[in-house]
Amino acid sequence: MASLPLNPHQHTLQKMVSCTGVGLHSGNEINLCIKPAPENSGIRFYRTDLDDTVGVPAHMDKVVDTRLATTIANAKVMVSTTEHLMAALQGFGVDNADIELDGAEVPIMDGSAGPFMLLMKRAGLKKQKAMRHVLRITKEVVFKSGDTEIRILPYDGFKVSGEIHFEDSLIDNQSYSIELDPEKFNKEISQARTFGYVEQVEELWAKGLAQGSNLDNVIAIHWDRTTILNDGGLRFSNEFIRHKVLDLIGDLALMGCPILGHVIAKRAGHTQHLAFMKTLIAADDSWEIVEMEAKGNHSVLHQIGSTTKAMGQQFMPFFVPQSYQRPRAAHAS
Ligand SMILES: [Zn+2]
Repeated sequence: MASLPLNPHQHTLQKMVSCTGVGLHSGNEINLCIKPAPENSGIRFYRTDLDDTVGVPAHMDKVVDTRLATTIANAKVMVSTTEHLMAALQGFGVDNADIELDGAEVPIMDGSAGPFMLLMKRAGLKKQKAMRHVLRITKEVVFKSGDTEIRILPYDGFKVSGEIHFEDSLIDNQSYSIELDPEKFNKEISQARTFGYVEQVEELWAKGLAQGSNLDNVIAIHWDRTTILNDGGLRFSNEFIRHKVLDLIGDLALMGCPILGHVIAKRAGHTQHLAFMKTLIAADDSWEIVEMEAKGNHSVLHQIGSTTKAMGQQFMPFFVPQSYQRPRAAHAS
């Protein structure tokens, strides 16, 4: 087995970090706190403004809405706009963390994952004893719906390719492909911002949605379709497709474990990302769950069983959400 570009150990953060920002949809100010968590606990969101001790595991089974952003929920506990933070956690290499919010949305910050990356750099990564379990693609899986196509192929790493077509505007046709590691994610993807047409944003405002959106957190494409309204212009000439790749990474992180495979998405959004993940999990002859092993300086795969969903449930506690109770932490607010 070839050595792999993925650290074999699970990681959490060295210490707690926090920030404050507005929710894109509510416009409310929201405090976000990212805390270290034990191995095999995965990423879990808690609402400190509710009586919530169970939280919501960041898992595809918990997705309840994908219309404007990805929303997860567990009973009455709901958290929206998880994708940019999830992408940052995955991009930085965090397997286990407790996320506390005092509102129903992850703050939008500048519309990218950059501010979350800065936060996590401040905290630092902490290696944990437990080894990572990864979802390794062994056979191609294809999902198609209308103009959208998402496929995943076997690959000894995690590679993400995307393509969008907006022929009537400056976005035009953009494609982008990246083999991910934390440094590349940070440099190439994390800074790419959310975008929308001005009239779409106005329509959302009229419906009482996107109340927190403004030129500090959304790239607004001008009515004339050839320019953007934001001062300072774009961060990358192809910032739009880079952001779509960021969204895809953030949604795929809801699989609950790293993926070894090459995913190629054409004209996809949150709704199709979720439908693709369901298709992938159902195609259980096309993937296996493997545990990583350290061999000298290399990461290799340790075969832990045959390819079935049941093996996933048995060997990867955070692949399928477990209900675990955690004592409610004292919260400053
Ligand atoms: Zn996004």
